[in-house]
Amino acid sequence: MRRSSLLLCLFSFLAILPSSFSARPNVLIIVADDLGYHDVGFQGSKDIPTPHLDRLAASGVRCTNGYVSHPFCSPTRAGLMTGRYQHRFGHENNPVWLPEDTKQGLPLDQTTLPQLMKKAGYATGAVGKWHLGAHPQFHPMKRGFDEFFGALGGGHVYFPDQKAGAEYTIPLNRNGVDEPQKKYLTEQFGDEASAYIQRHSGQAQPWLLYLAFNAPHTPLQAPESWLEKLAHIADKNRRTYAAMVCALDAAVGQVMARLDATQQLQNTLIFFISDNGGPNLSAKGAGNFTDNSPLRGAKGMVYEGGMRVPFLVSWPAKLKPGIYDRPVIALDILPTAVALAGGEVPQDRVIDGVNLLPYLTGEATGTPHESLFWRSQGPQGIHAMRQGNWKLVHLPGGKPELYDLAADIGESKDLSAEKPEVVTQLTSAITEWEKGTSTPVFGGPREGKTKAKKKAKK
Ligand code: CA
Repeated sequence: MRRSSLLLCLFSFLAILPSSFSARPNVLIIVADDLGYHDVGFQGSKDIPTPHLDRLAASGVRCTNGYVSHPFCSPTRAGLMTGRYQHRFGHENNPVWLPEDTKQGLPLDQTTLPQLMKKAGYATGAVGKWHLGAHPQFHPMKRGFDEFFGALGGGHVYFPDQKAGAEYTIPLNRNGVDEPQKKYLTEQFGDEASAYIQRHSGQAQPWLLYLAFNAPHTPLQAPESWLEKLAHIADKNRRTYAAMVCALDAAVGQVMARLDATQQLQNTLIFFISDNGGPNLSAKGAGNFTDNSPLRGAKGMVYEGGMRVPFLVSWPAKLKPGIYDRPVIALDILPTAVALAGGEVPQDRVIDGVNLLPYLTGEATGTPHESLFWRSQGPQGIHAMRQGNWKLVHLPGGKPELYDLAADIGESKDLSAEKPEVVTQLTSAITEWEKGTSTPVFGGPREGKTKAKKKAKK
């Protein structure tokens, strides 16, 4: 009886798979946290060696106009997980670490990437930072992942037993159960991702792995072994940050080596992005630890430095290495992955991302996105949009600013007075886009901090 039901399960499973099953790639999404635009070798860094990420870049397509949908952590992840501007469902702020709060997290009516991949027959795993809600209803395994190992909050201390606020010192979580931290966190996430890849090798079933490092987000904590190798960096904070990037690079190298050793490197589609630009971490005016050059601005802003990020797509079996310079956005990851999985994106809602593969192979000409939009802090907050090479930035209380990114990637010369007709057109496009958005369903970071403080006082 048991054997026959097992066989039945197997047959029903095989029946739903498309005929090209064996060709379907694994999908690995690697997210860095607060990585500066210029802080990896393939983006031009001279002081931070990142040989493994550079190799990944050389193996695939480097998208030089790659964006995320928000200039800070959680909303970008909400966009990535749904393929939709997160403003459509009010996820415009970081959720506060309040495990009893059922509102602060990725709204439950949103369909996620792992849910769609699972439906298409993929195994789904997540390793690393979650930051899409602290209440148990928001746990990764309630949102489509078969397995999870990582930190559920917005960040974490890097060494076991270090002191910090509650969110950064919670126990790590494995499949819903607390587990103590064993080692430097970036290394532990590298180990866990490698183990996942090993476990799922040699199986007929392809897999999705979401590997979201919290590095190199603060706190600035790095292994001594890396600090010693970076003695050429004089500024202590910059050196520590750089060492954190090196540890991240080494973990990516470990993951790629595991893919290679298990003969999965050729047929794995790998995305690499940062979730936002490098933050402006100046220490008492002593300078910034991260480097977003040649872009203007930093994390939290809608100048390019806030949300234009290092963006790689590698799939050795199908994609020729090269550069792609039309604007793409992390919202595109979902439709691309789901299309390759032979799955379907939801038809009952707007999906803003597009399948990038035909563009990256050169089959499709034209541009994946006529326009891209950004908004932070709600309808009264900061706005930006890009159309072709025009970039409009509108800050509260100010006049719209207009930049030509082809000539001025650093957004230094405001052309709004010279091109009022472009300003009018882009402003009305933002107004039109905004009709499809809602106000934030949970509060701003400031309100969140007040809530957390009140809770701490109780
Ligand atoms: Ca971040």
